[in-house]
Amino acid sequence: MTSKTPITPDVITIPRKVDVDILPNIIGLQKDALANALNEIGIPAKQIKMRTAQIWQWLYVKGAQTFDEMTNLSKDFRTLLLKSFSITRPEIITRQISNDGTRKYLLRVTGGHEVEAVFIPEKDRGTLCISSQIGCTLTCTFCHTGTQKLVRNLTPAEIVGQILIARDDLEEWDKSAGEKRNVSNIVLMGMGEPLYNTNNVRDAMLIAMDNEGIALSRRRITLSTSGVVPEIIRTGSEIGCMLAISFHATTDEVRDVLVPINRKHKIAELLDACRNYPKLSNSERITFEYVMLKGINDSDDDARRLVELISGIPAKINLIPFNPWPGSGYERSDWKRIEAFGDIVNKAGYASPIRRPRGEDIMAACGQLKSETQRSRKSAKQMADEVKGQ
Ligand code: SAH
Ligand code: SF4
Repeated sequence: MTSKTPITPDVITIPRKVDVDILPNIIGLQKDALANALNEIGIPAKQIKMRTAQIWQWLYVKGAQTFDEMTNLSKDFRTLLLKSFSITRPEIITRQISNDGTRKYLLRVTGGHEVEAVFIPEKDRGTLCISSQIGCTLTCTFCHTGTQKLVRNLTPAEIVGQILIARDDLEEWDKSAGEKRNVSNIVLMGMGEPLYNTNNVRDAMLIAMDNEGIALSRRRITLSTSGVVPEIIRTGSEIGCMLAISFHATTDEVRDVLVPINRKHKIAELLDACRNYPKLSNSERITFEYVMLKGINDSDDDARRLVELISGIPAKINLIPFNPWPGSGYERSDWKRIEAFGDIVNKAGYASPIRRPRGEDIMAACGQLKSETQRSRKSAKQMADEVKGQ
């Protein structure tokens, strides 16, 4: 529900540094690519394995931001590294802290473009929501990011860099093994469609999952897709992370409007891909995200169709109260309606948690992430009529 408390987020603005990073970034390389890069700058073959491991540890266990910190490397070697590579993270432009502790980072990446990452602290864990693209090519009608044109895909360094930034800000480096971390989970639910940038997302997640580095378990990473069917199986086999589907509608007519990729990949095709998702089991369920839009997709009939459609798929349904943004033209379903919908889903045997909106006062909630250009919007009534095919 929209917060009625006065909005007093803590905002800091960090002065911009000059863009001087012309050397190749050492962040974001897979281990074998890092080894090749060291070979190219003349490191003897018999040292490569050890040097690669040392640098990897500095970058992803200790969070080193300069080569100077890498004190177990000789001075000459550090100087060679300094001349050959940069250690470049996205730059924090602003950090806002919500009344509920949610932190939103506005980040600047190469080319001066801006993306956002959001850290959501919870009682027993902390989830970092990261972006995969600058903007989005898709145009889901209820999503703020969908009003922004795609600028480009993020690189592996820029994707993994969002994790590094959060660990820097939350002072997470150098914790001993087993010590509880703030950033315990990652969700690819920020700006962009991760499965339109599958290779870079995969490469970044392989770095995040590497046991000698950031060491996040694949089960603590959830990738959310609007339904890029041809890439879904590959996500399971090449990343192995948990899958979330932005489902949002129970008929092709409505989904065609809300999630326009549905015109290309219909509900039946999408659910087929889900049924074949590698490692799918009761302990590794698919999350179906379902945004609750008043009068559009929130009826009892919708709830019943939903459970029928996903029958046989180990799943949970995440009900997301619509987060409004200026000019969206949609309204959030009433709380009672959301609960009634959830009850039907629940009685059919599916967990149906209602996602509590977080960071609303700083526009950090799902689907509110930044947009530079605004499409003009129809009224809610016009949209409802369109959905109903009137
Ligand atoms: N592009 C991917 C990843 C973004 S995830 C995807 O669509 O799955 C962001 C989640 O928030 C998606 O489920 C999206 O549908 C949902 N969302 C978008 N706009 C929203 C809004 N205004 N209110 C609530 N949820 C929204
Ligand atoms: Fe893009 Fe996802 Fe928003 Fe759709 S919901 S416009 S796919 S970010």
